[in-house]
Amino acid sequence: MSIASEIKDIKAQLPPTTRLVAVSKFHPSEKILEAYRAGQKIFAESRPQELAAKVAGGLPSDIEWHFIGHLQTNKLKMVVPHAALIHSVDSARLLREIDRYMINKGLRKAECLLEIFIAAEESKQGLDETELRELAENLRKDPLRGVEVRGLMGMASFVDDSRQIRNEFARLAELYRSVKNEYADIFPRFNELSMGMSNDYPLALEYGSTLVRIGTRIFGAREY
Ligand SMILES: *Cc1c(COP(=O)(O)O)cnc(C)c1O
Repeated sequence: MSIASEIKDIKAQLPPTTRLVAVSKFHPSEKILEAYRAGQKIFAESRPQELAAKVAGGLPSDIEWHFIGHLQTNKLKMVVPHAALIHSVDSARLLREIDRYMINKGLRKAECLLEIFIAAEESKQGLDETELRELAENLRKDPLRGVEVRGLMGMASFVDDSRQIRNEFARLAELYRSVKNEYADIFPRFNELSMGMSNDYPLALEYGSTLVRIGTRIFGAREY
């Protein structure tokens, strides 16, 4: 199937409250343009250099770029000025560094999601529930001025067992709702739940995902 028909099919499955994020990492700008011409406006990258190069590479200026990869604090300048949403803030330190960057540069607030570790796999990336609550309590005492925390992001285990994937999405959705309620004072615009990829987004939708991040299903396999 073509990129355009994949996008059309996926969009037909999404409720009006869920947005499609087309994950274009490792794919060339021609494919991005093909998706753009099919009406897709949100694209996500996971490597700072690649994001910066694609932003500078003459693609349409109304593309909304998201960042979904691991972000080191020495790479902020390649990402933060370009990203409408950073899905992958996985430590209190990174959040503080982004805050400081925005304030120093006099930029608008950076919109961020906190990445939560929900998978069973050992390769741990993201905050656990305790770390998330610690971070929120800390922000109450020492608020951010250059960052708006918009919600949570998570990745389910890469397994075939749909019951396990459901459990992980259900836990993330529950954590999202409780943080939204308990910390409405420090997170007033907390309304995004980023979960679901090519292989598991239909399950994520059942648990209220507002952003699905889909690459392979749209663009085919990546060449690393
Ligand atoms: C690569 C990536 C995706 C897209 O995965 P596909 O299986 O190609 O849909 C989604 N989220 C994150 C964080 C990724 O790194």
